[in-house]
Amino acid sequence: MGQLDGKVALITGGARGQGAAEGELFAAEGATVVLADVLDEQGEKTAGGIPSADYRHLDVTSEQGWDEVTAEIVARHGRLDVLVNNAGILTAHKLVNVPFDEWSRTVAVNQTGVFLGMRAAARAMLEAGNGGSIINTSSVAGLVGIFGSTSYSATKWAVRGMTKVAAKELGPKGVRVNSIHPGYIETDMLDDVGDDREKMARSVPLRRTGQPIDIAQTALFLASEASSYITGQELVVDGGTYG
Ligand code: NAD
Repeated sequence: MGQLDGKVALITGGARGQGAAEGELFAAEGATVVLADVLDEQGEKTAGGIPSADYRHLDVTSEQGWDEVTAEIVARHGRLDVLVNNAGILTAHKLVNVPFDEWSRTVAVNQTGVFLGMRAAARAMLEAGNGGSIINTSSVAGLVGIFGSTSYSATKWAVRGMTKVAAKELGPKGVRVNSIHPGYIETDMLDDVGDDREKMARSVPLRRTGQPIDIAQTALFLASEASSYITGQELVVDGGTYG
């Protein structure tokens, strides 16, 4: 028996990286999975390799896109049980050098995208009346101040805050809302940083960078009944760096 038997899960940014790992693990645990992204070719390929997964184009900054995707899921499957707001972009500049369009784009994807996702999913979950679990991907940059990351950190702190408000509002209806705060995780996003991996690993108490499966297992815990009394919390998955 799978931990997510009979559940329907929507995962944004699911074409690759952590989202793809979450899709694979959730499907293995019995869920019907919808992977959403803007990387259509990669998304179709990833979903094609996972039994019980489909791919849908969704730019998380689009209000209309969210309405269409959640309506389609409810029409097709009759329910939506789990949303993983995983899509995100990494941007890095010191405060005095942050270009305004970088700020706006980062807020649109990482912050507005999570707001629109929580709102659309919560509406669908409340209407179905089965409760649910919303999992928001923040970062260790949503817990401390990381040098040179004004835009990114602002959005990840916002995700942490919105999570706690939503948990209070949706708890009475059985919808739980939590955030995950990854440290260094080996994905294409980390490639963009271009830092020395060995140096990164040495700075982590557990002496390794994280893998997408480390985050997927945390998301599975938050999606499943194993965490049924946990809401409004932040789970830090960073090998002990920010303990
Ligand atoms: P990734 O770049 O491999 O994956 C991010 C995915 O989001 C990509 O598939 C991308 O196409 C998608 N995406 C970007 N903009 C989108 C949009 N407007 N609409 C829909 N999808 C969009 O990186 P990842 O590491 O798998 O990142 C997943 C999440 O984890 C992100 O929110 C990121 O900020 C967070 N995170 C990552 C790390 C790390 O070290 N990799 C650390 C902390 C937090």
